[in-house]
Amino acid sequence: MPETINTDLVVLGGGPGGYAAAFLAAERGVQTTLLDANAKPGGTCMHVGCIPSKTLLHVADLIHLGHEAAEFGIAYGKPEIDLAKLRAKGDKIVDMMSTSLLKGCKDRKVNHIVGRGDFKDPHTIEVSPLTPGPSPGGRGVTITFKRCIIAVGSIPAKLPTFDIGSPRILDSTSALRLESVPKTLLVVGGGYIGLELGSVYAALGSSVTVVEMTASLLPGVDADLVRPLFARLRAQFDKIHLETKVTEVEEVKDGIKARLEPSSPLPPGEESGVRGEFAVFEKVLVAVGRRPNTATCGLDKAGVEVERGFIKTDKQRRTNVPHIFAIGDAAGEPMLAHKAAHEGKLVVEVLTDEAHAEWDPRAMPAVVFTDPEIAWCGLTETDAKKQNRPVKVGVFRWGFSGRATTVGRNDGLTKVLVDPATDQVLGVGVVGAGAGELIAEAVVAIEMGATAKDLAMCIHPHPTLSETIGEAAEFLHGLSSHIFVPRK
Ligand code: NAD
Repeated sequence: MPETINTDLVVLGGGPGGYAAAFLAAERGVQTTLLDANAKPGGTCMHVGCIPSKTLLHVADLIHLGHEAAEFGIAYGKPEIDLAKLRAKGDKIVDMMSTSLLKGCKDRKVNHIVGRGDFKDPHTIEVSPLTPGPSPGGRGVTITFKRCIIAVGSIPAKLPTFDIGSPRILDSTSALRLESVPKTLLVVGGGYIGLELGSVYAALGSSVTVVEMTASLLPGVDADLVRPLFARLRAQFDKIHLETKVTEVEEVKDGIKARLEPSSPLPPGEESGVRGEFAVFEKVLVAVGRRPNTATCGLDKAGVEVERGFIKTDKQRRTNVPHIFAIGDAAGEPMLAHKAAHEGKLVVEVLTDEAHAEWDPRAMPAVVFTDPEIAWCGLTETDAKKQNRPVKVGVFRWGFSGRATTVGRNDGLTKVLVDPATDQVLGVGVVGAGAGELIAEAVVAIEMGATAKDLAMCIHPHPTLSETIGEAAEFLHGLSSHIFVPRK
C-alpha cells in the first residue's frame, strides 16, 4: 500500500530557498514536510553550485598566492596537484555541510522525504522513489498538503549545437567533478559560471579560451568594474573572444573541433578576433545561462501558471493558486541563493504572522567570485543610464588603499552612487580581492537609507579594504584624504 503523508506545509525542493523556508516554518510551529530528490538537503548551491565551486576557487586562489609570493621574495616552485585529494576534500566539505542540514531537519522536526515529486492535483504530490526498493521516501509515497512552497531551482541551459552526446562537452555540473585537467578548454559563455570555472581550470594548468557572444564579459555589469577583471583574465587565459559564438562542433580523435564565428555582422572595417576559424579543444564547457526547472514536476496538474519558464508570482511569492507559493530560481531572476533564501523566509512570514509582508528589498547583492571579485548592489551605473536617472558617483581607486597595496592587489575600484538631490546611497559597486565581503556594508547602508555623508562619517578601520567604501563616500563630500580634487 502506498504510504500517504498529510502535511500542513510541503516544500518542494531542498535548496537554499527550500530549506530556509522549511526550517523557519517548522520553528514557527507549522507541520512541515521537505521533499527533495537528493538524499541530503542543499540543492544546486550545496551539491553542484556555490559550495563546490567556491572550494575550487579557493584552490585557484592558493595557487595564485603561491605565484604572487615570488614578488615578496618567497618561492614555492611549481604546484603539484593531486586531483583525487582535491576531489575528496570538496566532497568532504559538501558532505559535512549537507549532513548538518539533515540534522537541521531532525532538530526542527521537519519531515525530510527523498524522492521526485510530481503534482497530481492542487493538494497532492506523488513521490517517486529514486532507487528501487525501500528508501527514505521510497515505496510510492503520496503527500497531501494544505499549503505548498515550490522551490525547484534551475538547470543549465543547453544549446543544440553542443548536443552531440560527447563526454568532452561539460556543463557546470560535470565541470565541477574535475575528472581531469584538460590541456585545452573552450569555455562558451563569459558569464558568472564561465569565468569562475574558467579561472579554476586555468589555475590548475589548462589553456583556456573563452568565447562570449556579446561585446563584454559579464554583460550588464558596469564596464569599469569588469575592466580590472578583464586585464587579469587576459593574463590567465589563452584567449578571450568577444562578440563570438560557436556555430559547429564535431568530436575528433583528440577532442572537440569547434568553429568560432563573429556573433553578429561587424560594421565595415571592424575586426573580430575570429573569422570562421576551426580550433580543437580537449574539453568544452558550455555555460550560457540557467533555466528554471519547471517543466518536470506537473505544475499544470496543480493549475500553477508559468510564463517564459518561470512560475508567475505576486509580491508575496504567491502563485495564481492561492495556497501555493514559489521562490528562488524557479520564480524569477536573479538566480541567486541568497535571493531564494530571503524569499523563502518572506513566504513563511506571510503564512505565519505577517499576512501583509511583501518582497521589497532595496539592495540585492551579486558577487562574481573571480579574481578579482566583482560585487554590486542596488542601482548600477548601467541601469541608471538606461533609466535616464541622474546620479553622482564617488570613485575610489585601490592604488591609494594601504591594505590593497600591502597585499599587492591595488587593481581594485570602489564606487558609491548617490541621489544628487538627497545624497542617499542608491548603489555600490566594487571590483577587487574580497569585494564579495565588502559589499555587505553597502547592502546595510542602502537598506537603512544611509546617505554618502553617513558612510563618510562612519569610521572605517585602518588599514582595511573597507576604507575604500568610506573614501568613495568621502570623495563625494570633498573629505577624502587620498583623492586630491583641485578647487575650481
Ligand atoms: P550568465 O547569464 O551569467 O552568463 C552566460 C553568458 O553566456 C552570457 O555572458 C551570455 O552573453 C553568454 N552566451 C549566451 N549564449 C552564448 C553563445 N551561444 N555563445 C557564446 N556566449 C553565449 O549564465 P551562467 O554563467 O551560466 O550562470 C547562470 C546563472 O547562475 C547566473 O545568471 C547566476 O544567476 C547564477 N550563478 C551565480 C553565481 C554567483 O552568485 N557567484 C555563480 C554561478 C552562477
